[in-house]
Amino acid sequence: MDYEKLLRDAGALLNGHFLLTSGLHSGQYIEKFRILENPKLLKPFIEKMDDLIPDVNWVVGPTLGGAIIAFELARVRGVKSAYSERTDNGRVIRRGFDIKEGDTIIIADDILTTGGSIRDTQDSIKKGRILGAVIMIDRSVESMDVDFPVYSVLRYPIENYDPSDCPLCKEGIPITRRGG
Ligand SMILES: [Zn+2]
Repeated sequence: MDYEKLLRDAGALLNGHFLLTSGLHSGQYIEKFRILENPKLLKPFIEKMDDLIPDVNWVVGPTLGGAIIAFELARVRGVKSAYSERTDNGRVIRRGFDIKEGDTIIIADDILTTGGSIRDTQDSIKKGRILGAVIMIDRSVESMDVDFPVYSVLRYPIENYDPSDCPLCKEGIPITRRGG
C-alpha cells in the first residue's frame, strides 16, 4: 500500500506556507481530516496499525483525531477504546473508562509532530501498562524520547521553521493559518 499516494489522492498533502498552532511555520501541511472524514481511506491505515502493535486490552487516543483512530483500531482488535481529553491543565481520562492495574494499553494518534499529545496522554493514564504508541503519520524530524516503542504507518518528515528564520517568509509567500 502506497500511503503517501493515498494522502496525495485524498488532497491531504498541502503545499504552501503554514502557521502551525505551535507558532512555527512550515512549507507543507497534512490535513488529516481528509482521511479521518472517510472510513474507506482510514481503513488501510488502521489495518497496518493492527499489524504493528502488540496484544493489548485498551486503545487510548487523545481527542479529537486520536479518539477516532482509537475507536477504529479497538473495533478491529475486539478490545475497548478510551479517550484522553484536553483540559486547561494537560489531558485527563474521564467518562468512567475503567482501565485496571493489570491492563495493557496502546496509545493511538493521528499525526506525530512534537510528541506533546502522546506525552500528555501518557500522563493521563494512571493505571495499567503502556506497551507502545501507534501513529498514522509520523511527520516529526527528530525521534521522540519515551520509554515505550512508537510505531508509525507512514514516516513523512516535515521541517518546521522559526518565524524569525523562515525561508518562506523571506520569499514573501503569504501565510495560511492551520491547526496541528
Ligand atoms: Zn514563514
